[in-house]
Amino acid sequence: MTNLSVVAPLPPRVLTAPGERWELSKEQREIMALTEDGTLYVSGSHQNDLHVMALCDRLERAGFHFRFESVDPDAINRLYKAGIVQAGETIVGDGERVTHNQAEVIKIIRQACEQRASDIHFIVAPDGKSKIRFRIDGLLTTVIRPRHQQIQELCSTIYQSMCDVAESLFQPHLSQDARVSKAFVDQLGLYGARVSTRPRAPGFLMVLRLLYNDASLNSLEDLGYLPEQIALLQRMLRLPYGMNILSGPTGSGKSMTLKVVLHMLDQMMGGTKHILTIEDPPEYSIDGEGINQTPLVYDTTDPQAEIQAWPAGISNGMRLDPDYMMIGEIREVFAAIAAFRGAMTGHGMWSTLHTNTAIGILQRLQDLGVDPSLLFDPALLTGMVNQSLLPKLCPHCRRRFVERRRELEPSLVERVERTCTAERVFVRGPGCSHCRQTGFSGRSVVAEVLMPSLRFMRVFRERGPAEARNYWVKHMSGITKHVHAIRRINEGVFDPAAAEIIIGPLDMDLYVLDAEERA
Ligand SMILES: [Zn+2]
Ligand SMILES: [Zn+2]
Repeated sequence: MTNLSVVAPLPPRVLTAPGERWELSKEQREIMALTEDGTLYVSGSHQNDLHVMALCDRLERAGFHFRFESVDPDAINRLYKAGIVQAGETIVGDGERVTHNQAEVIKIIRQACEQRASDIHFIVAPDGKSKIRFRIDGLLTTVIRPRHQQIQELCSTIYQSMCDVAESLFQPHLSQDARVSKAFVDQLGLYGARVSTRPRAPGFLMVLRLLYNDASLNSLEDLGYLPEQIALLQRMLRLPYGMNILSGPTGSGKSMTLKVVLHMLDQMMGGTKHILTIEDPPEYSIDGEGINQTPLVYDTTDPQAEIQAWPAGISNGMRLDPDYMMIGEIREVFAAIAAFRGAMTGHGMWSTLHTNTAIGILQRLQDLGVDPSLLFDPALLTGMVNQSLLPKLCPHCRRRFVERRRELEPSLVERVERTCTAERVFVRGPGCSHCRQTGFSGRSVVAEVLMPSLRFMRVFRERGPAEARNYWVKHMSGITKHVHAIRRINEGVFDPAAAEIIIGPLDMDLYVLDAEERA
């Protein structure tokens, strides 16, 4: 099996094809084709055809720059069919079926990008239940129900001819991981795309994670952080050394927050400090004079190699003269120790963990086996942040809670009335064209931001996480995720029921915090 991407160059998008911006009638498509690189292919005998001149006129008026290429009508025909033309005349015949499938895949990914989907799921089931689903704002919707044969072909096309892979043969009965090649990613205007596959009973599953070049979100406020939390994060950034950890479940937007934080850090330092990242792989490009993003390097064919590569990567990074270092993820004790060593030797360290609360970070590091003398030193572990993403109500179709009260679940109504300001609360509406009938539009962070003090660390060590949490809220003005969510619910941003799905009952703090002492 050869890697087909060698024989099948990228198909250019034909802008005069059906459904495209400059769509032409069937007769006109026989004499001309406009590709996205700005080439207008015209059949040799139709140079002065009125329809050709009319299209030229439209293009010029729209400010679209193009150049003429005279070809024979056959070439135009094949261009529409295969989406490929070379040197004006010759079509690359090899792998024509593959290029057709590549064009299909690109069409699907484009559609996903337009809707800002984070993932595309290809569910391949021989029992006629195959489907392609998009995850948009955290929610999955089925967009295409392809035939079994077709979806199978699309998946093997993605893996075998559109990815950089060590093992170029797609084997649906195994779990495989790959990255979509740079040429395709660039054409799609993405920063990157990761592919993972896994056998399914029956069939198999392929998931594409789309990574965007996101310039639109550039502040912690845009992400949904509260002013008090932003002030604490800025204090963490100003510390010349220390270990700061951002935690949250998969898909909670940790990478995006780190991107914003590192960009802020670079701005704050005026680009005079070296900020080195080690990521597997970099998920977003981060702007900044002093920022160097580097991928974790390891042998992808060895399943143990990745985990061993982290501590080695951190030690190597330390020799590259960084002031600050961002480590994609801490997964075991050796990486944790290497990161703490960085903090001890005067570096500002940032990393991520999977936990559900800010205090859970301490527990997790303790479970990993980090020495208590390092862990409970508030001059070393300087910041603990936890975040989740909640769907935002569509402002066009949301409904007032007070008008909908009767239709809602009674216990939810009771919790909203007890914890929120009911007159200011909105709930999910029926859906409209702005929100693709979902009632939600975009997502926003709820977070816990904690800068440990010596006293806090002592409470944690002596009396455990529950008491430490209580101490944080009572004596350090700690804002829990629930308090954060309730504030946004009172602003009409979150739906109370949707918030509870992600963070649990709105009144949870009343149970886990000491009510007597509560101010
Ligand atoms: Zn609307
Ligand atoms: Zn709506």
